[in-house]
Amino acid sequence: MKTKKTEFGFELLKKDVKTKARLGIVKTPRGKINTPAFMPVGTQATVKTFTPRELEELGAEIILSNAYHLYIRPGIDIIRRSGGLHLFMAWNKPILTDSGGYQVFSLAKLRKVTPEGAIFNSHFDGREIRFTPELVVEIQEALGSDIAMVFDECPPFTENKAQVAKSMEITLAWAKRSKACHTLKGQALFGIVQGGFFQDLRKESLERTVEIGFDGYALGGFGIGEPEGKMDELLAEIGPVMPEDAPRYLMGIGMPLDILDAVSMGMDMFDCVNPTRYGRNGSAFTRHGRRVVRNGAYAEDTAPLDEKCGCYTCKNFSRSYLRHLFNADEILGPRLLSLHNVHFFLDLMRNIREAIAENRFDKFKRSFENHYDEEMR
Ligand SMILES: [Zn+2]
Repeated sequence: MKTKKTEFGFELLKKDVKTKARLGIVKTPRGKINTPAFMPVGTQATVKTFTPRELEELGAEIILSNAYHLYIRPGIDIIRRSGGLHLFMAWNKPILTDSGGYQVFSLAKLRKVTPEGAIFNSHFDGREIRFTPELVVEIQEALGSDIAMVFDECPPFTENKAQVAKSMEITLAWAKRSKACHTLKGQALFGIVQGGFFQDLRKESLERTVEIGFDGYALGGFGIGEPEGKMDELLAEIGPVMPEDAPRYLMGIGMPLDILDAVSMGMDMFDCVNPTRYGRNGSAFTRHGRRVVRNGAYAEDTAPLDEKCGCYTCKNFSRSYLRHLFNADEILGPRLLSLHNVHFFLDLMRNIREAIAENRFDKFKRSFENHYDEEMR
């Protein structure tokens, strides 16, 4: 019997006994996403250096793109005329689009935030743009992503409490308006919890965002230059009390050890430019930490980047060859390293899920941490 078209949903398969880690499945009309999940980032409607086929072969179940960047260039009209973002970029699995809140407050020349929206100059050509929650929903509906995010204000971590509270109120008001104008069937809408690094504000932001009611909940405003340890402190409090029956998404966080910590505090979804950004710059993530392939020590090294890695790069190429590609400025270097790195992150998530399923996540986490050296080598 044929089942009817899947609507968006989240199934919690298992909760870890020793930690707050969870195993789940996010269901979208374009396919399911096993969680904890890592989303490779394709800001400009491309995960840098990858064809969609390569991403599929690596086992990516969802990618992330960005409403702000695509609105500025190439503009949503051409994407709409192409039949939406999936057809435009030839990727037919789920896409999550970030609303651009973070970009407006970090990249653009911000002019003014009013209760109505944000006025800023494009980082690309300087033209004045006004983003309202309604416009940002409209952009994401035109893109046709599977998961859309509300437009939020992301205050700098140095902001004082009164300012962060004011900003939180704006984000909450925008979240209400986003939900009110969102109409695209089959597209999920996630709310974003802000509140800076103040525990009571974070809790209030969470409660009031849940009151509005979304398909999933994200934590925004982390990884913005705050002192180390700040995020973990808050995650330990906020993560476990987020709604159990909806996906929990920690935005923009993606160092392997951070992901492991966040999973242990109940987070389900992650995205980060790290695998491709480091890959382009010649850094490889391995079980032992990051390796810089240009390192002179690899000049005559015929071993693969990581002997235990099953990726195409490690199965076929040596450290010395990769080093040579980077030294000769060959485009294959960034491609092969990005491929290895994205494989590394997707594989880490597969191992995490397996470990949760087999009741040994805590042990897996400790073993990974013992082998992994965050310093570059
Ligand atoms: Zn590899």
